[in-house]
Amino acid sequence: MGSVGAKEVPQLLNEAGRRIDGRGLEDLRALKIEAGILNRADGSAYVEWGDNKVMAAVYGPREVHPRHLQQNTKAIVQCRYNMAAFSVDERKRPGLDRRSQEISKVISEAFESVLFVEEYPRTSIDVYIEVLQANAGTRCAGIVAASVALADAGIPMVDLIPAVAVGKIAGKIALDLKKEEDNYGEADLPMALVPRSGRLVLLQMEGHMSRPELEQALDLGVKGCLKIYEVQKEALRARYAVRSTEAPEVAA
Ligand code: UDP
Repeated sequence: MGSVGAKEVPQLLNEAGRRIDGRGLEDLRALKIEAGILNRADGSAYVEWGDNKVMAAVYGPREVHPRHLQQNTKAIVQCRYNMAAFSVDERKRPGLDRRSQEISKVISEAFESVLFVEEYPRTSIDVYIEVLQANAGTRCAGIVAASVALADAGIPMVDLIPAVAVGKIAGKIALDLKKEEDNYGEADLPMALVPRSGRLVLLQMEGHMSRPELEQALDLGVKGCLKIYEVQKEALRARYAVRSTEAPEVAA
């Protein structure tokens, strides 16, 4: 244990190689995804991932607002990532701050690269991500939720996008950082993957890693994304299963 000023720095890794919540370095936090939770959105999803609680709602393709953003050759993707005032320990000032704007922009770009935007000129695909409870990795949880919501809306896309943050804690590369690890760790590397092509559509980094560490982190992140991908597909299967059992009753 060390200390920074008056604050105690928690021991992020114990002698047995366990993290503060008992996970190993390559373990994800528990992840639960539910598709189709909002009646008024075209598509929606709810994600609980560790202590993160995130909701995504999707509309479109629909008329562009504000109008001047309209593009003649393709749909635009407008994502709004928002953290609720009650989502963090210290009340967050409501509204879009610089961080939310940056996250909204990188998520919009990630989705624009997997949606068939040329098929829907002069329209907007709107993605709302609401973070209800935050414990690090919320941009990734938002992408995971929004992917499922886009599929739930029936908007054609190359693939779902799983996402996860890999980091460095106590000198080791670790999957899916929680808040204390994000705060006191040495690096944080959120990424989003298109499993079908192996392409990364979001990659950001805070902190420092050597090149071999970065390569290890990317490998671990891809492995994590592939596990998350399975949970995303399962959520959509579960949604579809409910519909198919309901169908005979409607027909009868
Ligand atoms: N956080 C906070 N207040 C803020 C922004 C972030 O308490 O205004 C916390 C929140 O738990 C968030 C974490 O810090 O999940 C890490 O934030 P970061 O900017 O790294 O984004 P994230 O990891 O959530 O994608």
